[in-house]
Amino acid sequence: MTAAVRTVNCPTCRKPVVWTEKNAYRPFCSARCRQIDLGAWASEAYRVPTAPPDAALDESDFQPPGLGEGRGF
Ligand SMILES: [Zn+2]
Repeated sequence: MTAAVRTVNCPTCRKPVVWTEKNAYRPFCSARCRQIDLGAWASEAYRVPTAPPDAALDESDFQPPGLGEGRGF
């Protein structure tokens, strides 16, 4: 019994990746996942590199003072 296709899990997104000679990004599924992993190690913060959606919500909720008051015109 020979395994024709060998799969591994992408270290970044945990997706099954077919391990083939043609896959230059193995064990990652794509160049993006490889870049994310390299970047994580480079910054010594092995976490999810994307900002949490809460941060964006806080930023949109924040209204700088002076805007909309129309003073000075
Ligand atoms: Zn991946």
